[in-house]
Parts: sequence; C-alpha cells; structure tokens
Amino acid sequence: MSEEKSHKVLFVGLLLVTCTLLFLVAALLWWIPYVGLANIHRALPALLAVFFGTLLSLAVVGILSIVLTLVFKKDLLLSKRLRGAVIKIIFPVLILVGKLFGISKEKIQHAFVEVNNDLVMAQAGRIRPERLLLLMPHCLQNYDCTVKITGNVDNCKRCGQCKIKDLVEMAEIYHVGLSVATGGTIARRIVVEKKPQIIIAVACERDLTSGIQDSYPVPVYGIFNIRPYGPCFNTQVDLKRVEKAMLHFLQGGA
Ligand code: SF4
Repeated sequence: MSEEKSHKVLFVGLLLVTCTLLFLVAALLWWIPYVGLANIHRALPALLAVFFGTLLSLAVVGILSIVLTLVFKKDLLLSKRLRGAVIKIIFPVLILVGKLFGISKEKIQHAFVEVNNDLVMAQAGRIRPERLLLLMPHCLQNYDCTVKITGNVDNCKRCGQCKIKDLVEMAEIYHVGLSVATGGTIARRIVVEKKPQIIIAVACERDLTSGIQDSYPVPVYGIFNIRPYGPCFNTQVDLKRVEKAMLHFLQGGA
C-alpha cells in the first residue's frame, strides 16, 4: 500500500473508531440515567435516544461521504460542506482520539492534508490562472542566498541554486501567482491581499495544517516539502507534483 493510501486508511480508521466511541458513550449516557430520566419525564429517555441517534446517523453519513469522495475522487456527496466539517470538527476530534491510541500528531496532520487534498480536487472547477496562487515556504530558498524574495519573488536572480528559480519560471509560463512566506502571519496577509480562488501550498505537516484551517473557505491543496537536511533548512519540493496539481485546477479537473 502506498504511503498516501495508508494515511487515508488511518484517517478513515480513526473516524470509525471515533464513531464507535461516540456510540458507546451515547449508549452509556442513555442506559445509566435511564431510570432517573424516566422519573423526571417519561419521554426523556426516548428524546435522548433520538438525539444521539441523529448525531450518529450524521456521523455515519459523513464518514460514508468522505470514503466515497476518497475512492471515486469526485464531488459525490456535499464535499464542500464536508471539507468544512473535516477542518473545523473532525480533525480536532481525531487528534484527541489519536492521542488515546498513541498515534503521533504529525501522522494525523499528514493524513488530514491528504484527505483535504482529495476533497479540494473533487470540488475543483476550471479557474483563471491569475486566481491561482502558489504559496511557498521561505526554507525552499538556498540558505546562503542573500536576495530578498519574500516581498517579491521576481528579485530571484535565477542562479539555479534552489527550486525558487524553477517556481518563478513555472509561474511565468502558466501566468499564475507565486509568493514566498516566512511564516503563518505573512502567509495569511498574502492570502488576504491576493484573494486567490485556490492555493497550492508547499510546507511541512504542521504549517500545511494550520494554513488549510486559517485559509478556509479558500481551498488549499497541500504538498509536503522534502527535508533532506532536517526541518526549515534548504528544503526541496517535487516540482512535477506542483505542476500536476496546477494543471488539474487550470483545466477544471480534466
Ligand atoms: S535561485 Fe533565486 S532564490 Fe535561489 S539561490 Fe538563486 S537567486 Fe537565490
């Protein structure tokens, strides 16, 4: 099984575990105070059962929709709303459930980005190049380079010592936006200023996760940076993956 697939399986597995836990808690909450509730009002246990039943039904429909979108890679069942639910509710819950089972936060963040990517891809319609933004981390720039590219990537001298040169050329060829951010605050400011319709962001698990959450409802397609020298230092990016994702959005998912 590929690494990407195993992360998605982990995400769905955690969702199922969460649902089971929810069911057990609901059953306990219903059974234990059953007598007490019935004493207050005869209808209370039934009302509580309807409440938890609805909650569980919603959770089951949500999981089914996520699985179908991941399998068919198509916007089958409300993937727009689903992405919001995954970002705001499901992901924070899964971090807690993952903790119970000793699964690292980074692993769940990785799975979250992969699932988010599939949901973003599934919703993709054709967009104009100027509405697409490539958002890159500062650590892609060669550490010894003295050129300041954070304000304006066109300052890059294109010496080829890092992938910024290739990205600048790629942005020129496809007429898309390209920005480099030194951190979350700058990245947020860039998004507010440029108002992109879609973002392809490159970063580590932590920064991609917070970027996806902070930019919502603007869709962010996340690509993990490659860290041959450890985090935040002369990182790399798979340019083919950036180009493939860009073409997907420019061609409307074709
Ligand atoms: S390609 Fe651009 S950013 Fe990278 S080292 Fe050369 S001048 Fe600096």
